[in-house]
Amino acid sequence: MAEPIAPGPLTLRELSEIGIDRLKGVGDKKLASLREVGIESVLDLLETYPRRWVDRTDECRVSDLQAGVESLVLVAVRSVTKRVARNRRTIVEALVGDGSGRVHVVFFNQPWRERQLREGLQVALFGKPELYRGGLQLTNPIVDLIGDRTGRIVPIYPQSEKAALSTWEIAGWVEDALRRCEARGVADPVPAGVRQRVGLIDRHQALKSIHLPETMADKAQARRRLAFDELLRVQTVLVMRKRRLERESRGIRHDVSGELTARLRASLPYQLTGAQSRVVAEIEADLAGPHPMHRLLQGDVGSGKTLVAVSALLAAVQGGHQGALMAPTEVLAEQHAASVRSLLQGVTVPDPGNLFGDRPLRVALLTNRVAGNERREILTALAEGAVDIAIGTHALIQEGVQFHSLGVVVVDEQHRFGVEQRAALRSKGDGDLVPDVLVMTATPIPRTAAMTVYGDLDVSVLDEMPPGRTPIATHWAEGPLLQQAAWAAVREEVAGGRQAYVVCPLIEESEKLEVASAQETFEWLTLDELKGLKLALLHGRMPTSEKEATMDRFRRGEVDVLVATTVIEVGVDVPNATVMVILDADRFGIAQLHQLRGRVGRGEHRSHCWLLTQQNADSGAGNPRVEALVATTDGFELAEVDLELRGEGTLMNTAQKGRSDLRLASLRRDRELVVQARAAAFELVDNDPLLDTNPILLDELRLLFTADDEAFLFKS
Ligand code: ADP
Ligand code: MG
Repeated sequence: MAEPIAPGPLTLRELSEIGIDRLKGVGDKKLASLREVGIESVLDLLETYPRRWVDRTDECRVSDLQAGVESLVLVAVRSVTKRVARNRRTIVEALVGDGSGRVHVVFFNQPWRERQLREGLQVALFGKPELYRGGLQLTNPIVDLIGDRTGRIVPIYPQSEKAALSTWEIAGWVEDALRRCEARGVADPVPAGVRQRVGLIDRHQALKSIHLPETMADKAQARRRLAFDELLRVQTVLVMRKRRLERESRGIRHDVSGELTARLRASLPYQLTGAQSRVVAEIEADLAGPHPMHRLLQGDVGSGKTLVAVSALLAAVQGGHQGALMAPTEVLAEQHAASVRSLLQGVTVPDPGNLFGDRPLRVALLTNRVAGNERREILTALAEGAVDIAIGTHALIQEGVQFHSLGVVVVDEQHRFGVEQRAALRSKGDGDLVPDVLVMTATPIPRTAAMTVYGDLDVSVLDEMPPGRTPIATHWAEGPLLQQAAWAAVREEVAGGRQAYVVCPLIEESEKLEVASAQETFEWLTLDELKGLKLALLHGRMPTSEKEATMDRFRRGEVDVLVATTVIEVGVDVPNATVMVILDADRFGIAQLHQLRGRVGRGEHRSHCWLLTQQNADSGAGNPRVEALVATTDGFELAEVDLELRGEGTLMNTAQKGRSDLRLASLRRDRELVVQARAAAFELVDNDPLLDTNPILLDELRLLFTADDEAFLFKS
């Protein structure tokens, strides 16, 4: 390692500049192996955290093993054999032992164990011994190769058989690296005040304790500190981005006391819910202010987001600007256009061409399906200001689309747009005036996840449903017998004058296959299960006019059962529909099932949702997603379950990439730390917007974030 020239503590950048070949025992071959697993510098090595720690104080001697009692033994491998059983499963058997005795170990379907467990190797085995043929046997235990590591707690590193790296080799290099950090120490960017408030140990100690803990409690402290660092870096970037936008972009001070929004409210057949009033007020405060709004609206299916969105768009219109609503798919854009038009029917705006006159407010739909003369006409009208509200897909942000004066943008996000698209929309503003942006998600995400994924946005939550809803009862029907009950329920509802949806199996790979399967389902139901009822089919490949005609017939009650693909996911609103049957429900994600289910339960009658799955051969395997849907209709609760089941990887992909990934921190397990890190980030950035006084942290952000993030953060 480099002889210290500068005497200060080692920064992450310095550690990242020290090649791994400087460590004892790293020759050309090992260097290549380490590169293969992405470890090039001492920093990479120190950030290769143990996957597990074996606590030898819990160790048990082989002679003390008892049937049925989970235990850890440290043993040497005596012999290993492999055979293939009649059912073609491979069985690897090993005999292992310590000074006190021997025990049999069996691995089913893990053929590679034969190569892993070489004779003479020291291994830690963790498992529950069973009695078998008069002796004790360990079946499929957890195996950790510990080599000749000593110490009470042995770190177990991710090992790579392919790259031929063992956990004890990594442990040895880590130890060497840490020893060489001793003299200078490791720089700590977190101010002592924050450390004390959050209860964090210092970074150098944390690095030592995560790799070589004295006790498991030390290890936990170390993990907490290093996880905090990861979260603090992400939050600092997000908070800097947020503050920078606020500082540098000029927004439109919208007229929120105007007539249009008041007229909209007066025209509604209902009162706003408390949550809608609160959120509308939050949005209007942003709109009236000098900074452009950048806000996330979270609300469960049916919580009344459309109205909130329309009221924001109208605020733009009443000040002489335009509004735009961007949806992720054409179908959704069309549905939004229909519901916005119906909400705004009869609303007029002052017509500058006619001093004393008004003209009807104009809503235009712009998707890639709109072409030719119609498209040209809309583009001209948008550029001249003759269209007040534009609704569309990505088509809205394409080159060549110009607004006369874009004031408010609503993005119906559904996890499908990223930061880049939001930025593209903002840039459609008038000169250097940046339009206000409201991002809506119909699928709530947990608060701490929102803080990270949407950490540069303010958040409003619609946490109250409009009154008069009756709860939806959800049933899981596994196998043909219970499915009969579902079809019987559909017949019963129809006999009572209600209507039903049947959602066809999702086929993600191909819309064509999906349509074919929907047609098949439609025919089968018409001929068999739902014979005699009036059925109609709806799918994404039908021409818009045909879709609209079908939806109209369903709305008017001329169709009893709408057999549809997921095109009905959002926007369809027929209060008389009280039952939904979802086929092959286990192919859908939690969020999608929840969206679909939200199409029923919109009227005064009690509604039902039937989730059908094939009989599971592996009985008792359970189906956590379907079970979650049965257990609750609360979107926020389901979001927590979803995060639990899927992990955060899926959420994080748009937020931060590359080396800034969260390695230790978990948005699920470390909720309290996320909140603390966000608070700390605000404190640091608000006291010192460009981090002039914290060069260590600033340098870490430059080092660990991607070029894009950096351009955003540091260009002045
Ligand atoms: P979301 O977009 O959040 O899923 P919508 O905006 O489609 O929900 O609203 C769902 C239904 O609730 C619509 O039929 C809408 O007319 C109705 N609605 C919205 N706000 C209220 C309210 N305050 N009182 C009664 N009904 C409402
Ligand atoms: Mg504003």
